[in-house]
Amino acid sequence: MRIVAGSQLAAIAVLASTGWFSNARAQNIDFGAIEVQTVKVADGLYVLLGGAAQGNIAVSVGSDGILLVDSMYAPMHQKIMDALARISRQPVRYLVNTHLHGDHTAGNEAMAKLGAVIISHENMRKRMAEQQNNAPPAAALPVLTYTDSMTLRFNGEEIYIYHPEPAHTDGDSIIYFRHANVMHVGDVPSSLRYPNIGVNEGGSVDGMLAAARQVMKIANENTKIIPGHLGPVVGFKEIQQQLDMFGVVRDRIATAIRAGKTLQEVVASKPTADFDQDRMGGAITPDRFVTLIYTDLSRSVK
Ligand SMILES: [Zn+2]
Repeated sequence: MRIVAGSQLAAIAVLASTGWFSNARAQNIDFGAIEVQTVKVADGLYVLLGGAAQGNIAVSVGSDGILLVDSMYAPMHQKIMDALARISRQPVRYLVNTHLHGDHTAGNEAMAKLGAVIISHENMRKRMAEQQNNAPPAAALPVLTYTDSMTLRFNGEEIYIYHPEPAHTDGDSIIYFRHANVMHVGDVPSSLRYPNIGVNEGGSVDGMLAAARQVMKIANENTKIIPGHLGPVVGFKEIQQQLDMFGVVRDRIATAIRAGKTLQEVVASKPTADFDQDRMGGAITPDRFVTLIYTDLSRSVK
């Protein structure tokens, strides 16, 4: 997700920007004030939380070293290293990115400089490398990519990394630690906030809904699910709540588009109002969420 403030115009301007650019938007965050919180979720598996605006990091520690899922914003690097030093003295060997947004990848370069091998879906690397403005440094780019799925055997784990088809973006990865039964789902709908949708990075409303349903087929009721934000862990209950909310709001907006309503009219009609109370903040306001859904559906709904 991205940090967005201000009017719909500002929101639309951000929609036109690319993932890495969101790092510049992050300057509104008071990084100095943020404490990284470390939560153990299974033997050898932790979540580092940096507040609602940062992507949650999953950490595998063991005799093979450290594997991270996502890297937060760049100014968080030293805080992440300090948190890691408290749980392991091993080096960071691998970093898997769930998708290209800056709150999940802007810390890549610093991790690569420490020797971490960065892994992502092929499309994610492609989009990162092709960014014209605010292109990331070469070291921030993944060096190991895949298309459908891959399995990494590390710290006694079978780490299954798969691509859920275009969802939040067209380069998403979901990371499943099979033995521990822990899954990091990135920004596929899970925690109880309004989700961002990478509508200009190949993501779509229907793709996000499909990916959340697929998570519930690949995982099971006991799986500890690490969401991209908030958490530290959720389960099928939260995913189902998100699916229910998302489905209702999607249908309301699709109906309004078919009736010829403009974006301004749809936002003003507050189609999320009955769900707002149960959402847990984060950077995506109800109006922004509605704008994202409208932007996506207005391309396809007739
Ligand atoms: Zn995102």
